[in-house]
Amino acid sequence: MSPNRWDVAIIGGGIIGLSSALHLTSLFPKTRVVVLEKESKLALHQTGHNSGVIHSGVYYKQGSRKAVFCVEGVKRLKQYCQQKGIEYDRCGKVIVATDPSELPGLQEIYRRGTDNGVPDLRIIDPDELAEIEPHTRGIKALHVPGTAVVDYARVSQAYADDVRQNGGEILTGHKLLGIQRNGPDLTLETDQGDVHCRSIINCAGLYADTVARALGGSNDVRIIPFRGEYYVLRPESRGLVRGLVYPVPDPRFPFLGVHYTKRITGEVEAGPNAVLAWAREGYRKTNVNLPEAFRHLTYPGFWRMAMRTWRVGLAEMHRSVMKGVFVKDLQKLIPEVRSQDLTPGGAGVRAQAVSREGRLLDDFSIQQTQGAIHVLNAPSPGATSSLSIGAHIAQLAAQSFNLPA
Ligand SMILES: Cc1cc2nc3c(=O)[nH]c(=O)nc-3n(C[C@H](O)[C@H](O)[C@H](O)COP(=O)(O)OP(=O)(O)OC[C@H]3O[C@@H](n4cnc5c(N)ncnc54)[C@H](O)[C@@H]3O)c2cc1C
Repeated sequence: MSPNRWDVAIIGGGIIGLSSALHLTSLFPKTRVVVLEKESKLALHQTGHNSGVIHSGVYYKQGSRKAVFCVEGVKRLKQYCQQKGIEYDRCGKVIVATDPSELPGLQEIYRRGTDNGVPDLRIIDPDELAEIEPHTRGIKALHVPGTAVVDYARVSQAYADDVRQNGGEILTGHKLLGIQRNGPDLTLETDQGDVHCRSIINCAGLYADTVARALGGSNDVRIIPFRGEYYVLRPESRGLVRGLVYPVPDPRFPFLGVHYTKRITGEVEAGPNAVLAWAREGYRKTNVNLPEAFRHLTYPGFWRMAMRTWRVGLAEMHRSVMKGVFVKDLQKLIPEVRSQDLTPGGAGVRAQAVSREGRLLDDFSIQQTQGAIHVLNAPSPGATSSLSIGAHIAQLAAQSFNLPA
């Protein structure tokens, strides 16, 4: 076989592409696997810009892909980190109701978590909350002691090392530009020349819908980018938070609400919010990519989504430009926080799939076209679930692709 001819090409060197490569190369060692990543380094987009939380699986409807992959993924990920000597901190989390109207939502999360088999969940009162998080105020809270934090870029690097050790190839600086089908084979046009393969696994994150469409995927789902902006607590204010402090999320929106996250580095972040971005990789408020923005504006699902969620969307935009509003929301959880405790932090962009009907897809979405598997919606807890998603994709590949025996 020529050196640039592969059985399976995986598009995207984020945590899900790399986990898929890891599972394919270890379960099916005769399969020649290549990962194509457009950036010069791995994990530079969602994977390298997330909150670093190993979620426990409390939020998700029983039986959903998120529930199944997250609860299973946590176990696998913690075990993997232990094997590889990757540090993670089981700092625990509280989800805090600050208003009686939030109590049914809190109870529902407790019920879902229990249904999903998340261990050691307890609804606690303000006194116990004060023992766990002395500066947090609330009328009731859910304590999730197993939640942890990790550096997902480091985890991805370990997956990549394993892929290479298993004989897989990872080509960074290779941007997929187009795809030609020649009978059973595919020619992938990249900015470094053509790469030939039999099958594709599309893990292109913010560009997964465009890759899917190039392979005959449906036009009924579009990735709409939602930027999540963070503030960082000044080092002298970090003592306000011990672990992870979350609000009860708005059930109309698939995001968790601005929260405090202790990073594995010891830094404490506040955020992320969720504002519409005008570029798929629009990490700054001023980033606008006109062709991408135009494609969103001409997608009927975008306008239907805007009609449904304009009130929440406007509130998010207001909070994005007015630090005072951001701080006020954070003060609901920790009243002592002041604007001067917070400095601007980084941002991440979520690849949120939106249907033609304008619905934000809540669950993970993995679809197939001839000779291809597409990861079309893998928002949080995608990083937590990466090992179970990768294992699932490798099984799908074994069923649908003609992998060498
Ligand atoms: C703000 C934020 C906070 C989050 N917090 C958490 C959290 O705390 N815990 C958790 O479990 N999850 C969290 N998530 C979700 C998690 O980060 C994602 O589920 C996960 O990173 C998705 O991985 P991925 O590999 O699908 O995508 P990505 O990491 O985005 O990787 C996709 C890759 O494809 C490459 N690519 C795209 N187009 C091409 C092309 N044409 N050719 C070649 N390569 C291409 C990109 O460069 C990129 O490297 C968060 C996400 C965000 C944005």
